[in-house]
Amino acid sequence: MTIYDYDVLVIGGGPAGSNAAWRTRGAGLSTLVVEKDAFPRFRIGESLLPHGNALLRETGVWPKIERAGFIEKYGASFHLSNGAADKHVVFSQALVPGLEKTYQVERAKFDALLLDHAREAGAEVHTQTIVRAVTAEGEGHRVALETTTGGTEVTARWIIDASGRDQFFPSEIKRALEPARTPKRIAIYNHFRGVARAAGPVGGNTVVVRLPDGWFWIIPIDAERTSVGLVTTVEAMRQTRAEPADLFRQTVAASQKLSELMAGASPVMDFHVTSDYSYFRKNLAADNRVLAGDAGGFFDPIFSSGVYMATYSAKLAAELVVRAHREKRAITPREGHRYSRRVKAHAGVFQKLITAFYDNDSFAVFMCPQPPMNLSPAITAIVAGHARLIWPIRWRFYVFLLVCRLQHRIPLVPRIDFTGMDAVAPQPLAAR
Ligand SMILES: Cc1cc2nc3c(=O)[nH]c(=O)nc-3n(C[C@H](O)[C@H](O)[C@H](O)COP(=O)(O)OP(=O)(O)OC[C@H]3O[C@@H](n4cnc5c(N)ncnc54)[C@H](O)[C@@H]3O)c2cc1C
Repeated sequence: MTIYDYDVLVIGGGPAGSNAAWRTRGAGLSTLVVEKDAFPRFRIGESLLPHGNALLRETGVWPKIERAGFIEKYGASFHLSNGAADKHVVFSQALVPGLEKTYQVERAKFDALLLDHAREAGAEVHTQTIVRAVTAEGEGHRVALETTTGGTEVTARWIIDASGRDQFFPSEIKRALEPARTPKRIAIYNHFRGVARAAGPVGGNTVVVRLPDGWFWIIPIDAERTSVGLVTTVEAMRQTRAEPADLFRQTVAASQKLSELMAGASPVMDFHVTSDYSYFRKNLAADNRVLAGDAGGFFDPIFSSGVYMATYSAKLAAELVVRAHREKRAITPREGHRYSRRVKAHAGVFQKLITAFYDNDSFAVFMCPQPPMNLSPAITAIVAGHARLIWPIRWRFYVFLLVCRLQHRIPLVPRIDFTGMDAVAPQPLAAR
């Protein structure tokens, strides 16, 4: 029988990696986290969902998050860029209790806090170390690492790949991609000072502004700085022929709502661009390796689901590994499919809401202050991250989706005025 250096090697120290490491270590498995960057490091994705609080509480990191001084988030405001419609989602009005509040987090600080927590629980953490190659070794793996001082190798029985959208693992489970059901999108973002904020607790809410081809997010991350990003289609971006930062500024200028909010704003760093980020791997677990977080799949971040999905999948991934380890066997195909199904069931709920958000008729239903049959509290619960469709949420959600479909033919809720929301005009060729 092969003796491995570690029971578990986790690739990546983001929310998925640090949560998985805390859980495998807590179950008594020796765990190494390998993270290529020096922490703290910049990451986009600052808005948490209240339903994810429980997952963070389970690992004991929640009190540290509460003490860290992050901005409190009690809901989210949705606006049409021409100012014709507004909706304020208040988490305390969700169908399910316990979803009242969460936080907006600067990811550099938040991710470092989670990784330190895994380290304190006994996981070994090597930062500035890159996983370069993984090869089979007995029933486990031999892993080639590159550190700041050179190359080295370790062995591990299990691998949890939490390498995010970098998608390290060159395996079949990683290669098989499910076809994207949405147009390719691109995000252009920065942190700003001087973005207008509502007074009082609602000033901590996420603001989403719907555009003709996409949307803007505005997320306060501390007393002064706000994360602001534009999401549009790659095709719309190509048509404008503008550079990303120029397109960002022109889109702000073209929207009444954004112009108001961004009137006194100045960027604090260079603009970042992330493109074509929606995908899902077919099978998320097989034999002796599991994909967790963005490494398994990622979709449009309108509803801020990424960190929740990362910590949720990390929990399931760790449970899968711990169970198989204790029973001295590999992950069975059945377990692998079950894990994939459970993660994708939650992803599917968010994806349905995202599809509704991009469709003008369905968006009118989403934005309606009082949709028929008192559907709002259920939709609020899902916007708060409650993707586990317990029956009272489930039937209301499916009625909501039905109303969205019917809205194409019969206006069951008042239609929204989308006029004056033209996309940014293409640049003349000479201006490029
Ligand atoms: C534009 C945009 C906006 C978003 N907004 C939100 C939001 O508001 N709320 C939200 O919850 N989510 C949001 N997200 C999603 C969120 O950022 C991710 O879902 C989340 O970071 C996933 O966590 P993770 O641990 O899976 O991956 P990551 O956080 O990406 O961590 C992966 C880690 O793996 C490391 N790594 C990669 N390859 C290797 C290697 N070979 N060796 C060693 N280490 C490696 C990386 O350095 C990284 O630190 C957004 C995403 C985008 C693109």
